[in-house]
Amino acid sequence: MKKEQQDPPPRIVGVESHGITAASLDSDAAYVLKKLTKAGYKAYLVGGGVRDLYQGVSPKDFDLSTDASPTQVRKLFRNSRVIGRRFRLVQVFFHDNKIIELSTFRCRTECDDDKKGEVLAHNNAFGDEREDAFRRDLTINGLFYDIEQETIIDYVGGVQDLDDKVVRIIGNADLRIGRDPVRMMRAIRHAARSGFTIEPATWTAIQTHCDSLSVCPVSRIRDELFKDLHGRASGQWVRFAARSGLLTSLLPFYAEVLEEEGVEEELEQLLTAVDMVQSTGGRLKDDMLLAVLILPWARRRFPDLNTGLKTGDAFALSREIREHLKHIMAHLDIKRALKEQIATTLTLLPLFMKNRGKGWPKWLTKKSYFGQGLLFHGLVQQAGGGEKVAENLWPKPPRIHKKTIPVSRPKPRSKGSRAPAYTNSKSKGGVFGFRKG
Ligand code: ATP
Ligand code: MG
Repeated sequence: MKKEQQDPPPRIVGVESHGITAASLDSDAAYVLKKLTKAGYKAYLVGGGVRDLYQGVSPKDFDLSTDASPTQVRKLFRNSRVIGRRFRLVQVFFHDNKIIELSTFRCRTECDDDKKGEVLAHNNAFGDEREDAFRRDLTINGLFYDIEQETIIDYVGGVQDLDDKVVRIIGNADLRIGRDPVRMMRAIRHAARSGFTIEPATWTAIQTHCDSLSVCPVSRIRDELFKDLHGRASGQWVRFAARSGLLTSLLPFYAEVLEEEGVEEELEQLLTAVDMVQSTGGRLKDDMLLAVLILPWARRRFPDLNTGLKTGDAFALSREIREHLKHIMAHLDIKRALKEQIATTLTLLPLFMKNRGKGWPKWLTKKSYFGQGLLFHGLVQQAGGGEKVAENLWPKPPRIHKKTIPVSRPKPRSKGSRAPAYTNSKSKGGVFGFRKG
C-alpha cells in the first residue's frame, strides 16, 4: 500500500502529441502485440523502437515487453524459442528469417541495490511495467507504446528528454553505471546518433567511471565498439569518447597521443568520412574500420606511414605494426587474421600516397589488395578535405533481413596458408607482392 502512495502515475502521451499509430509499427510486431493483448496480457513496444518512432526515424528493430512469462509466450506463438542466459527472451519467427524479440517485464532490484562497484549479476526476476521501465538504461529508452490506446506510457521522463534532446541515465547515474559499465557506451552512442547532449550528472558519472569498462566481458565491449563504428555517427561518437575518457579506456594506447594537437580532430574527420560512406549505402568491413580508428595513433607512432615508403621498408614496417597490434589489441581479443588485415591496410597507405595523382601503376591495379588500399586511401583523402570516396569502391551490405538467423554453411577449405598478405623480402613479389624497387 505504502509503495502505491509513493509511486507517481506515469505520464500518458496521446497520439495527437506523438503521431505514432499502429500502422507506424512493423506489421509482425503489431501482430504479436495484438495477439498478446487479446489473450489478456499487457504488451508494449519498448526501448529503441519508441524512441526512434517518436523522432520520426525508422527503428532498426522492434523490441517488445509483456507481463506474460516466457513459457506463456511460447504457448501463444508456436514458431518461437527461448534464448539468453543473462536475460531470457522469446524470439518469435516470421517469414524471411525475421525475428521479433519479446522480454518479460523485469524487476528493478538492480537499481535499488546499493552494492556499489558490483557488476550486475544474472538477473531474471520478473517485475511489473514500472519496474521494467526503471531497470532500463536511458530515459529515452525507457518508454512504452500501447498499440491499443496509441499512447506512450512514460515512467522515467523520457518524452521530456526527447523533446529537450538530452541523454540521461535512468536513476542514479553513478550507481547504474557501476552496475553495468556498458551503459556508458550506450549513452554516448545514443547522444551521437541523435545529436543530443548528455545531461551533466550522466556526463560526470561517465568521466568518473570510464576505466571500469575493463570489468565487463570483452565480447560485450567489442560488440558495442563495432556497433559504434558501424553506427553512422562515429564522427560525433569519437568526440564524446575522447572527451569522456572512454576512448583511452577502450584503446589505452591512445593515451600517449590524444592530447597532441590535431589528434581528436583527425579522428573525427576520418570517422565522419566513414559515416558518409556508411549512411549512403556502403558497409565497411571491421578491419577497415579499425584501421581508420587507429590511424591517427599509428601515424604518430610510425612516422614512416606519412612518407612515400620504399616497398623494401614496407615489409619491416608492416611486421612492426603487426607486432604492436598483438599487444595493444590483446585486451579486445581481436582475431589474428583481423589484426593482420589492419597492419596490411595501414601499410598500404604510403604506397598509395606515393602513386597518387600519377595514375595507378598497372601492376598495382592487378593486386588483390588494390580495392582495399584504394578505399583506405580515399577515406584518408576525404577526411583531409579531398575528394569524396568514389561510390564504386564502397563494399555493399549483404542483402539480408535486419534480424536474421544466421545460416551456417561449412566454409570451403582455403587452399592458401594463413600467412599475412605479403611475402618475405627474398621472394620475387617483394613486400605484399609489390614490385620491388
Ligand atoms: P538500437 O536502435 O541500437 O537497437 P536500442 O536502444 O533499441 O537501440 P537494444 O540493444 O536493441 O538498443 O536494446 C533494447 C532496449 O533494451 C534498450 O532500448 C534499453 O531499454 C534496454 N537495454 C539495452 N541494454 C541495456 C543495459 N545495458 N541496461 C539497461 N537497459 C538496457
Ligand atoms: Mg533495439
